[in-house]
Amino acid sequence: MSIPRVIGHDDVWDTFRRALEQRRLASTFLFVGPAGIGKWSTAWNLAQALLCETTPRDALRACQACPSCTQVAALTHPDLLVVRKPDDKNFIPVELFIGERERRMREGLCHDIALKPFRGGRKVAVIDDADYLNQEGANCLLKTLEEPPANSLLILIGTSQHRQLPTIRSRCQVIRFAPLSDEQVDRLLADRQLVEAPERRAVVVARAAGSLQRAMELADPDVAEGRRVVFEHLSQRDVDAVTLGKYIHEFVEAAGKEAPPRRARLRLVVLDVADFYRALLRRLSGTRESTDAESEPYVAAAVGHWAGRAVIAADCLERCLDALVQIEANANLPTLVGCWIDDLAQVTLHHA
Ligand SMILES: [Zn+2]
Repeated sequence: MSIPRVIGHDDVWDTFRRALEQRRLASTFLFVGPAGIGKWSTAWNLAQALLCETTPRDALRACQACPSCTQVAALTHPDLLVVRKPDDKNFIPVELFIGERERRMREGLCHDIALKPFRGGRKVAVIDDADYLNQEGANCLLKTLEEPPANSLLILIGTSQHRQLPTIRSRCQVIRFAPLSDEQVDRLLADRQLVEAPERRAVVVARAAGSLQRAMELADPDVAEGRRVVFEHLSQRDVDAVTLGKYIHEFVEAAGKEAPPRRARLRLVVLDVADFYRALLRRLSGTRESTDAESEPYVAAAVGHWAGRAVIAADCLERCLDALVQIEANANLPTLVGCWIDDLAQVTLHHA
């Protein structure tokens, strides 16, 4: 097993390399940037390079072959601690930081990071979902962040600086990750043979907004078909909300039994519907050009029965943005789909 190669983010590696050379590597970092652009992969690769037992420490390069490198790749290295939000929780449980009630402060990240390194010269800890740190979890981390144990490195990963509690933000060196370029996403898709046809790849790349994760979700042929069906519904004069809601519900369930892929799929559908209303608004306001060839024919078909109703289209778009927020807040998905489609139907019917 090997760690996924990171594309881009050379500036991040340069920052770490310089700090190591100058022997001024900070102990606590906050990685921020959009989801799915390689923040976790970068942290994982950095951990491997820092814990590698054969390359010089300052080189920040992993040999990929020593026992330490193998263990980091398998996430079994005793000096690499990783904390993630469990799928069924809305925040990171405090137990992951300070241990279960009966073993308080005798296990968990805050305890383990203070132990002497088992194998190599340091401990590396990664908190992969820092957006989901609540006040209680953050309080547990404060002491570790304020007085990091010698030879420890703690990396928190979040989507934006502003989603972090001020007490956390102020104690970390912030490293910003830029979205990948379209060329990088295109190359990654081609290398992994995820989307073979160049014209289809161009559509996926344009909609991925620099996120490989998003691009991989969009590469699924079922997702492309789902998008077409949803646009077809939306282009009708009288949108059949019941049938559309049922279709979306089944489409989301088909993503698998687990909540994360279902949530990811619903996010794509809501984004599609948002795209539709955004394109419609552009049309209604007289800006004809669209960057989305897939939605264009459906929007063109709908624009006639939307004349003079730009305010409603804007309202629908806003409902979609609300739905996206609710998806991130782990709302119950079937309920969310029902309410969202109902809302859209109400808004459009009421003003028809
Ligand atoms: Zn190694």
